[in-house]
Amino acid sequence: METTSVYQPETPPQSQKTVCLLALDRWRWHSPVMSMKMYLLFSEQLKKCFGVRVHKISVDAGFGCPNRNGGRTGPGCLFCDPGGSGAVGIERLLSVSEQIELGKEVMSRKYKAGKFMAYFQPFSNTLAPASQLRTLYDEALAVDNVVGLAVGTRPDCVPPDVLDLLGEYHHRTYFWLELGLQSSHDRTLHWLKRGHDFATFMKAYHEAKSRGLRVCVHVILGLPGESRADMLATADVLARLQVDGVKLHLLHVLQNTPLGRLYTQGKIQTLGMDEYVKLTVDVIERLHPSTLIHRLTGDGPRDQLLAPLWSLNKWQVLNAIDAEFVRRGSRQGDHCGS
Ligand code: SF4
Repeated sequence: METTSVYQPETPPQSQKTVCLLALDRWRWHSPVMSMKMYLLFSEQLKKCFGVRVHKISVDAGFGCPNRNGGRTGPGCLFCDPGGSGAVGIERLLSVSEQIELGKEVMSRKYKAGKFMAYFQPFSNTLAPASQLRTLYDEALAVDNVVGLAVGTRPDCVPPDVLDLLGEYHHRTYFWLELGLQSSHDRTLHWLKRGHDFATFMKAYHEAKSRGLRVCVHVILGLPGESRADMLATADVLARLQVDGVKLHLLHVLQNTPLGRLYTQGKIQTLGMDEYVKLTVDVIERLHPSTLIHRLTGDGPRDQLLAPLWSLNKWQVLNAIDAEFVRRGSRQGDHCGS
């Protein structure tokens, strides 16, 4: 379903109608900026849409996770760290608005960012009554120069009243729902102790789309027990759904996680860089040409990362992905539906 957000940029460079209904604007492969990449990069699309760089600021609003006994205790998913798979460096004792103000200061200094999206990231950011969620999301949107919201959560944590609320934000602002899937294979989800199956994801996804929401789906490449064919099958599912956005994560093994213990016992391995680069390109080639790529890799916290250590050099990985596209002469969507 096409989105119908009434989001408008603050200073429309052309007509309000043409500027930023992303769904209408996704197909512009001929854009001078986008043509530098062989895939639709979310950050570039944001810049084109708002006219300036827009940075996401991670926020920890104190949510728990239903897969961790409803709170922040319990091991949860095998890869989950004590921070709930969240961003490092969040000052979680501060209020939502204080965290955003702090993030703005850093981003403005480092990247000359002009506008921001608040990203409710760690744990499950819909695990509260809708009224409480509204208060927290509104607090984020009230901060100057915050032009949108992204809310990360699990597919089993979006009841109808919460989805209705998210639908309201879709019409009020530039809004993304980020749903963790990780793999389309139930045996992998079971092994990972995700606590939900693929059918649960599909139900949540369709219910979100029925409210017009933009949905970004998170998947992990390099999960133990998955072959290349398994990972490409997950990509094919996303291609068939024509998802609005995808975040590709490299499997990181962190200390103080169940996965970390398996790794130190020699029971699991991680991908090599060359393998990851080729897989990532394979996946993007299979995705639908309209899907925005929100992330291509990740850099786990340096002081907690057990493997793969090569991932710490994020720019080297990103450059290698671009080089692989050039080497193949391919681009996003070339093998969509194949
Ligand atoms: S859903 Fe997220 S927060 Fe919950 S256990 Fe899994 S990784 Fe951790």
